[in-house]
Amino acid sequence: MTAADAGTDGGLDFVVHDAREVVVGTGDEGLRRTVDGAVAVVDGRVAAVGASDEVCRAYPPENAHESIDATGKTVVPGFVDAHTHACFAGDRSDEFVAKLRGASYQELLAQGGGILRTVRAVREASTDRLTADLLAHLDVALAHGTTTVEVKSGYGLDVETELRMLRAIAEADDHHPVDVVPTFMGAHAVPRGTTGDDYVDAVVADQLPAVADQGIARFCDVFCDEGAFTPDQSRRVLEAGLDHGLTPKVHAEELAHTGGARLAAEVGAASADHLLHATDDDVAALVAADVVPVLLPGTAFSLGGDYADARAMLDAGAPVALATDFNPNCFSRAMPFAMTLACVGMRLTPGEALVAATAHAARALDLDDGRGTLREGAPADLAVVDAPSHVYLAYDLDVNRVETVVTGGEVVRRD
Ligand SMILES: [Zn+2]
Repeated sequence: MTAADAGTDGGLDFVVHDAREVVVGTGDEGLRRTVDGAVAVVDGRVAAVGASDEVCRAYPPENAHESIDATGKTVVPGFVDAHTHACFAGDRSDEFVAKLRGASYQELLAQGGGILRTVRAVREASTDRLTADLLAHLDVALAHGTTTVEVKSGYGLDVETELRMLRAIAEADDHHPVDVVPTFMGAHAVPRGTTGDDYVDAVVADQLPAVADQGIARFCDVFCDEGAFTPDQSRRVLEAGLDHGLTPKVHAEELAHTGGARLAAEVGAASADHLLHATDDDVAALVAADVVPVLLPGTAFSLGGDYADARAMLDAGAPVALATDFNPNCFSRAMPFAMTLACVGMRLTPGEALVAATAHAARALDLDDGRGTLREGAPADLAVVDAPSHVYLAYDLDVNRVETVVTGGEVVRRD
């Protein structure tokens, strides 16, 4: 279709024009931007992006199904939140207080709190309840500009509940404009009354085949860390997942250095996540194996601890990605807040944080359709930000600047 056809035959879905700044994606300077820009959308994909007068000449806004005058505002790709545990039940706000009084995450877990407490709540919750709660969380994420979110299972730790969680995740995906990417994480914690080895046997023999049979997960993740699973146990889970067509992901080097990053490189994982204790050699191995480091500054912030060394990873050439890690232990669904923490806590520039929250995050989910950018041909997932530049996403600490959110060229959220 030519531009003129698109402008006259009704195929033009959407135009956002006269934006102070349009962030297209990555470039030589870290960020590819257009000043006084516009984006035109045909059939749900970006048909043109560039100078507003040129784009509007080829794709007149008055011919579009919908258009937005973004004078003085900024247009960015929709955020891709590449790591969440957004499907859960129950309340752990009291643990927030206990941690402030000095209890450690590991102590709470040893007392039956933490993940294991959420497991009990999820087993008791109906699938409809899980779906409804997840949909409410997706509403908050969308309001802050997220258009794609990865959600893990892992609070079931038995076949029936892991499958119910993945069904709730699929159901939420069907009924919400945010695109939900499902990950199976049966190896999230060792249930009480069993050993790590015995539980891994159950994950491999029972859970993975059942999940694969239903075709309701894309990735297989494992918590490889002190107090969770060893690298050998983690490898067994991930290799079995590969046999069932699930791409590996690894929670690696968060609480201690145990070898999770090396394992991620060896099994060809899509991402290695957390990485607070990763060494230079680990980072080099991840870069060589094309594994995306996903950093979760919200978790570091919630635990009052140190942040991962994002600068060293960027210097090593790694495509650093950001995610919220939204879970009962890190109650944040807003990617702009993750960007703020990445800037203040890890010294990323706002531009680096934005690329990490969009294009690099899409890589962490193996999404190679241009998502996380507004390049021509990419899915038209974008946010209009009420600010003169992308810097405000990280700079404004207490106002949600995201005004309008578009997925597939359709306005799905207006402030
Ligand atoms: Zn996690």
